[in-house]
Amino acid sequence: MPVLTRLIPSPVVVDIRPGALDDLAGLLADQRISGSGRLSIAISGGSGRALRERFAPVLPGADWFPVADGTIDSAVRLADDIKGSRRYDAVVGLGGGKIIDVAKYAAARVGLPMVAVATNLSHDGICSPVSTLDNDNGRGSYGVPTPIAMVVDLDVIRDAPVRFVRSGIGDAVSNISAIADWELSHRINGEPVDGLAAAMARTAGEAVLRHPGGVGEDEFLSVLAEALVLSGIAMSISGDTRPSSGACHEISHAFDLLHPKRAALHGEQVGLGAAFAMRLRGAHEESQLFTEVLRRHGLPVLPEEIGFSVDEFVRAVAYAPQTRPGRFTILEHLDLSTDQIRDAYSDYASTISS
Ligand SMILES: [Zn+2]
Repeated sequence: MPVLTRLIPSPVVVDIRPGALDDLAGLLADQRISGSGRLSIAISGGSGRALRERFAPVLPGADWFPVADGTIDSAVRLADDIKGSRRYDAVVGLGGGKIIDVAKYAAARVGLPMVAVATNLSHDGICSPVSTLDNDNGRGSYGVPTPIAMVVDLDVIRDAPVRFVRSGIGDAVSNISAIADWELSHRINGEPVDGLAAAMARTAGEAVLRHPGGVGEDEFLSVLAEALVLSGIAMSISGDTRPSSGACHEISHAFDLLHPKRAALHGEQVGLGAAFAMRLRGAHEESQLFTEVLRRHGLPVLPEEIGFSVDEFVRAVAYAPQTRPGRFTILEHLDLSTDQIRDAYSDYASTISS
């Protein structure tokens, strides 16, 4: 008789609340994380300095590694630096989305568990098994283990640049569009949908989409942070980015690849991509709800609001399927010509009040 349910790779600690950083040293001293206190902590070169000053006295066994940027080169360099130093129990990424991505990749490379301490909520990579890094081709996604612990201090999030928090909203609500793509592929191609991963990712997206609060409120920030964590776990469950990445993300990846120097924040691009994809699949009311919610939070809903012309948007949508070969979304399904994309865009834009 089969009795085993599946085990989900997930952090041993998730701590999301105001003041969470006040207990960071105690959390890291957990025997499952770092009983010896020997930690390698990645921080940004800029705002990381203040974090280091705050935490160095309570983390005497830690070494600090400033990271220059969110490139794969920086991640490899960090791994080499960590390997060339002492023995550590874990790698801690203490900072924004880029620091977390770099620390996740470096930790995977040196075979150490990774603790994510997020100082903003810019994307769902804060607790996912994926590291997104800039490389010679623009930007790449690399598979890594899920973080062993996850800390979000809402007092810190409220002080973070609001644009980075808004970006997380776009990434969270885009789950709804990504799941619609997954279900479409199931109907058309018979691709299996992981029901648990879909449930977690969709519920996370809906919770953010339908929450009446805003980025200045703890209640909303809690839901947003939890939604991003659950999105990451959903990816661990399905073993790929399917629950959180569909046409919305293909469009964003196209912006990243075609315009690497001009790309906007990930969540800004995928939020816009999701609103447009909902329209493409004929979900007009949902598309309208997306644009209203994105607008309410100060996120872009039109390409010119992130510095791209309509022509550039149309080209990005046309190019998007090439960014994730093998992934079937509404874009691959409709296989639109450039003229058809332009018409669909006019349709979409006409529903948005200026
Ligand atoms: Zn994303």
